[in-house]
Amino acid sequence: MNTLQLSAEKEEDIALAAKLLREGKLVAIPTETVYGLGANGLDEEAVARIFEAKGRPQDNPLILHISEPKELSSICHDIPQTAWLLAEHFWPGPLTMVLPVRDLVPKRTTAGLDTVAVRCPKTEATRRLIALAGVPIAAPSANRSGKPSTTTAAHVLHDMDGRIEAILDGGACEVGVESTIIDLTGARPRLLRPGGITPEQLSALLGEIDIDRAVLGQISNDAVVRAPGMKYKHYAPSAEVYIIQGSSEAAARYIRKRFQSGDAVLCFKEELPLYEGCNPTAYGSRDDALSLSAGLFAALRDLDTPEIKTIYARCPEGGGVAYAVGNRLKKAAAFRTVNAEEEP
Ligand code: AMP
Ligand code: MG
Repeated sequence: MNTLQLSAEKEEDIALAAKLLREGKLVAIPTETVYGLGANGLDEEAVARIFEAKGRPQDNPLILHISEPKELSSICHDIPQTAWLLAEHFWPGPLTMVLPVRDLVPKRTTAGLDTVAVRCPKTEATRRLIALAGVPIAAPSANRSGKPSTTTAAHVLHDMDGRIEAILDGGACEVGVESTIIDLTGARPRLLRPGGITPEQLSALLGEIDIDRAVLGQISNDAVVRAPGMKYKHYAPSAEVYIIQGSSEAAARYIRKRFQSGDAVLCFKEELPLYEGCNPTAYGSRDDALSLSAGLFAALRDLDTPEIKTIYARCPEGGGVAYAVGNRLKKAAAFRTVNAEEEP
């Protein structure tokens, strides 16, 4: 299959992408979080092709993307007032809500759950595309399963060339990590995945929220979890990743002492001078969490080469968007962390 490269700046390309989606084809779409691998979310066969193209486990449910908040009621039922409040504040934007699903959504989309994850993305061309397609678009991240998500059309092409009908190029994604997911089906709102909408923003609106254990630590493959996808290995380059905590100086001392050929360092821009000769890659600025989220996956992809066996990574601490960056990096590291202040 020849993968068409389309531009989000051309109306006729958006229309062609919409036509392909209506025909049950796969089109990678730009969003403010990461690129999505889109298909008609109501078409069982189209959805099946997403799993095939990604090599994604069948029990990992998809997110449905809508062009306008009000479309939520056509795919979900028993929508609490909280959901509309969140939509009013954060849609279009990087927030996904889990709600009870209506029967028109095929089991393949929800992996057989009685709930569905829904988001209204911010990228305007993509919302126009969804409106033209006239159906909710199921879209997981447009990467091969287990690899870091894609944040540019070139990354999508690298993973998906020849496996999907088209890519709509909308430039680099501004947030760079996947959407925040909040489950609204329990007694209290529960954060299933941190992202561009922060825990602080959610609590300011909803009061106290629960944080799912999948956010906090490693979950074993046979565990029973609320969202099946949460247990899978994610965002991982082939190298072993270790997070080195502590001050810039303590971390550099720890890493430089152990550094061997075949190792690499993933650090903050400000720390580059500390790692001369240690193959450093910076993914953003320490005090600008959005620069770190926007750069993280591209950097992990750059470091995903057969030569690199170990990556020492610097990780931001604290809340806000840094919380999402820390979550992805810790997942890539299988939660292996070392505090350099406590090590010789
Ligand atoms: P992605 O892999 O970025 O497409 O995000 C999909 C993720 O959303 C899944 O791996 C789940 O963690 C979550 N998700 C999707 N649908 C549901 C659902 N019905 N209930 C809970 N989590 C869901
Ligand atoms: Mg993904």
